[in-house]
Amino acid sequence: MPSGPQQVPQIVTDKAHPARVYDWLLGGKDNYPVDEAVGEKLPPEARDGARQNRQFMHRAAAWLATQGIDQFLDIGTGIPTEPNLHQIVQGIVPSAKVVYTDNDPIVLRHAEALLVSHADGVTDYIEADVRQPEAIVEHARHVLDFSRPIALSLIALMHFLPDDQDARAIVRALVATLPPGSYLVLSHASSDVYPELSAQVTAEYAKGGIQLGFRTRAGVERFFDGLELVPPGLVTATEWGAPGEALADEGSGIYAGVARIS
Ligand code: SAH
Repeated sequence: MPSGPQQVPQIVTDKAHPARVYDWLLGGKDNYPVDEAVGEKLPPEARDGARQNRQFMHRAAAWLATQGIDQFLDIGTGIPTEPNLHQIVQGIVPSAKVVYTDNDPIVLRHAEALLVSHADGVTDYIEADVRQPEAIVEHARHVLDFSRPIALSLIALMHFLPDDQDARAIVRALVATLPPGSYLVLSHASSDVYPELSAQVTAEYAKGGIQLGFRTRAGVERFFDGLELVPPGLVTATEWGAPGEALADEGSGIYAGVARIS
């Protein structure tokens, strides 16, 4: 039972927004000249990173569904870009339930695309900020059964929260609500794989008014503290795949991992 859009969203078009810059990087059309202006100043590798990140999401979501996971809480969903997470997982488990969350009103405006579910499944959308984990979980409880495993996905989200203490506390609070057998799926732009490119990207986003906090490998690894990373562990986005899965032979500045919560 999708709850539907909560209100008519107000779109700010004189300031760049993360979801819209990312949409531009992926070749989408749901962005404005301010977003394109930021995107165009970024090194071309930023577009590679966005594509690689999205492909990691595809592989990780499919893997989780094949493990029998049928409940997903996806925070920082982004503007719909096919295939979306629910299309991937419902293609494997038609009855899968997906709750999407983003704090950008433009995502809500396009939420219809996220709410067209397989007839057997459920999708839901809530406009919320990850910095209010309790509110997100309270809403998600209307759709997901928190006594059964849930995959929590924070994909290319946490680098928009530069404060280390806050970022870790938020992830811990979300993970603490999940029962054993659940999973955390997280990807994050690195500051140490291609340090110069990372500094350039951070500086250009800052000029557009968006603060980024790219992290080192050790910094990203700490989001998984106390959890059991599944093979191949914390790797770059193009290195993450199920055993035997064919992967692109290219470098990536995005870290990616999936961990089991026990
Ligand atoms: N997860 C998608 C989109 C990544 S882009 C993917 O990997 O393909 C990052 C998304 O996070 C954007 O849509 C942006 O609006 C959202 N976001 C950024 N800060 C957020 C916050 N504090 N709370 C919720 N969403 C946020």
